[in-house]
Amino acid sequence: MSTAAEQTTVIPVLEHFIGGDFVAGSGTFGEVYNPASGEIAARAPLADRETSQRAIAAAHDALAEWAATPALKRARVMFRFRDLIETHSDELAAIISREHGKLYDDALGEVIRGLEVVEFACGIPQLLKGEFSENVGTGIDSWSLRQPVGVCAGVTPFNFPAMVPMWMFPIAIACGNTFVLKPSEKDPSAALLLARLLRKAGLPPGVFNVLNGARDAVDTLLTDPRVAAVSFVGSTPVAEYIYTTASTHGKRVQALGGAKNHMVIMPDADMEQAARALMGAAYGSAGERCMAISAAVAVGDAGDRLMQVLAPMVRDLKVGPSSADGFEMGPLVTREHLHKVRNYVDIGVAEGAELVVDGREMKVPGHEQGFFMGGCVFDHVSPSMRIYNEEIFGPVLVVLRAENLERALSLVNGHEFGNGTAIFTADGRAARQFTHGVEAGMVGINVPIPVPMAFHSFGGWKRSLFGSLHVHGPDGVRFYTRLKTVTARWPDQGPMSAEFTMPTMT
Ligand code: NAD
Repeated sequence: MSTAAEQTTVIPVLEHFIGGDFVAGSGTFGEVYNPASGEIAARAPLADRETSQRAIAAAHDALAEWAATPALKRARVMFRFRDLIETHSDELAAIISREHGKLYDDALGEVIRGLEVVEFACGIPQLLKGEFSENVGTGIDSWSLRQPVGVCAGVTPFNFPAMVPMWMFPIAIACGNTFVLKPSEKDPSAALLLARLLRKAGLPPGVFNVLNGARDAVDTLLTDPRVAAVSFVGSTPVAEYIYTTASTHGKRVQALGGAKNHMVIMPDADMEQAARALMGAAYGSAGERCMAISAAVAVGDAGDRLMQVLAPMVRDLKVGPSSADGFEMGPLVTREHLHKVRNYVDIGVAEGAELVVDGREMKVPGHEQGFFMGGCVFDHVSPSMRIYNEEIFGPVLVVLRAENLERALSLVNGHEFGNGTAIFTADGRAARQFTHGVEAGMVGINVPIPVPMAFHSFGGWKRSLFGSLHVHGPDGVRFYTRLKTVTARWPDQGPMSAEFTMPTMT
């Protein structure tokens, strides 16, 4: 029989992964929660400047050899990594569920979307093929090639602890760069498992590093001259800070920010279908998705018909922990975030929006300390309200009414964010008008969450993206490589004479 002391749960202490080894943290530690129980699941180190510099140094030391490794060999590491993710997908999904709170199947879906980027990166020899022009002038050839940029850093959010890092590092590494990942301090364990799998796949020490931490770690990555490029995904204020700071320090930056994704529902849409699509898109993963639909714009007489179908569905939403079957939505990530989201619902009520379904006080039996709330839906929301203008990032849907498609379009286009958007309609002309005129990076036609596949690129417009290139797909290869164009002549008739006029290659 075990003693009381032995029965006390030992809280795991997480480490960094630097130079191919797991490295114990020192100094400050942060708490990682199990959102379904409200208990502490682990403690994660919050790296100081010195540890952050150590991770950068490891990536810097590994760079020359990895950059010189043939793309074919780099791809083979990716192939092995791909297989390892597949065999460890259950473990990865379980870790994600435990620290994030999303349902197991949802977590598995995230792993698969990340895996697809690794599969894209397996094709790197083809993707890095350059361009060649023979005889651009007499006896002169010219070619363009792509070379790695150097040490790359990735700073990622809590809501996709495996997929978002995998939007970045597989392509960066396959392109010949080395990488320092700073995952979210709220759910860092998935990144550590990915590091273990990369090591098992044969990736040389230092090519991939995981630096756990918060602002101190990020600031070191943004300012250290050895870091050449920074990829960021997170909230808009932090994205703007990352973009400004890192670019001032001479780095190339892509910083993806927050969102308020609108779904426009035309009067000719199938309301059942539109309501079901809204349910998954607004309440899946407790609304903590950058592509979640958080604003529905009902056009013409669609509003009342939509609400009739939607409201009972929101009331019936099955909320519970990922450890049990049959639930549709899990908890929010932390207690602070739960309070923030509930507070937004209070704000909406005070602003005069009609709270049709109120999930603020919902409790899950046996999980009273978990960070749960039920789905909420507001109707008759006006564009001046904070619940419309600000990103809530929780299970709160706001419904607006618009007299026609033009007004719906102007609402979407007038919003500060432009990540994704969707239209539900049976009318091809309306869909085309919407697709052509809407100011957003990703558009769905009768598809509520139009997340592009790994071989296309993902990113928003307006204040949902700082920088010019989207992530993964062709833009990912562009971001993680520098273009070099060579012009060559091998003279065969004596020495070349000095040319003082602009060469015209004739
Ligand atoms: P966040 O901005 O709070 O944190 C993101 C990362 O930045 C974390 O690693 C965090 O440690 C770090 N960070 C936070 N504050 C910082 C600061 N002041 N200085 C330096 N680094 C800092 O975001 P989050 O709460 O983890 O994630 C949710 C947000 O991410 C939402 O706004 C969501 O829309 C956005 N998101 C966007 C996309 C996209 O593709 N556009 C994808 C996923 C999530």
